[in-house]
Amino acid sequence: MPTWKIGDITVSQILEMPLEPGELDGLIEEATPDAVRAIEWLHPHYANEAGQTLWSLHAFVVETPEARVLVDAGCGNHKNLPLIPNWGGLHNPFLERLADAGYRPEDIDYVLATHLHLDHVGWNTVLDDGLWRPTFPNARYTYVRDEFDYHRGLAEGESTTSDLSHAVVYEGANPDIHVQTRLVFAESIQPCLDAGLVDLVESDHEVTPGVRYASTPGHTKAHHSVRLESGGEVGVVTGDFIHHPIQLARPAWSSRGDWDRELSATSRTSFLESAAGTETLVLGTHFSGPAGGHVVPDGEAFRFAPIQGS
Ligand SMILES: [Zn+2]
Repeated sequence: MPTWKIGDITVSQILEMPLEPGELDGLIEEATPDAVRAIEWLHPHYANEAGQTLWSLHAFVVETPEARVLVDAGCGNHKNLPLIPNWGGLHNPFLERLADAGYRPEDIDYVLATHLHLDHVGWNTVLDDGLWRPTFPNARYTYVRDEFDYHRGLAEGESTTSDLSHAVVYEGANPDIHVQTRLVFAESIQPCLDAGLVDLVESDHEVTPGVRYASTPGHTKAHHSVRLESGGEVGVVTGDFIHHPIQLARPAWSSRGDWDRELSATSRTSFLESAAGTETLVLGTHFSGPAGGHVVPDGEAFRFAPIQGS
């Protein structure tokens, strides 16, 4: 899998699984096949000739001179995911791919999550003899407190936003966010809490030199991207505030899965304006094809200029 350099930092992309072409069509409702085909630079990496959008599930390992940091932990294997049934019960060789990139689970010092959705915390744990245990025994699982508290509230059923049927793109899905969040906590988060491996931090927290959380709310209440800085160079792991590269061309198009679509668009637009025309390496958490690239001004909006990792 590809790697990119940001000063002394190396970022490796670790594939969990590519998604079927068009699997998430409808998640961004304005992105009809005609609308997708009209944005020519999306082809071939981010959309196919039929105007279906292409997506990927992957993680990034950020290696600095001081630490190895896993940013977003995918869906995991064997998980119970009634909200997105296609992503539950997986058997992907993610840890083998991590090993191929040079990392054993015990090498990881920090596990971060841009947000606590099911496809960002799954590899937190593995099923071991019928019990969930932390995958990364030496890691500090470091989460933004507001994001953690919001999802813990959902797990405890305190929120009134219990139904995600407007955002469901999979047949047979159970849109009850309380049910899904309780399962995510039970399978992927509580075992790390029980092992004493979780640290809750404030927004903008520097996790280790050169790696910090940066607030990009809207997809979830306290969604954070991860900002990387070394030797005057800058990188940003997006998380889901940029869900698909099409949102560079159409920053106002939010995802039906966003907690606050307007806030998501505001976060996205202000980031894109600040990154456009700079050397900031954008690393897209669900971008298919080359996941890294630059934001380039393009008419009234932007396009993604991919950089093939080495
Ligand atoms: Zn996601």
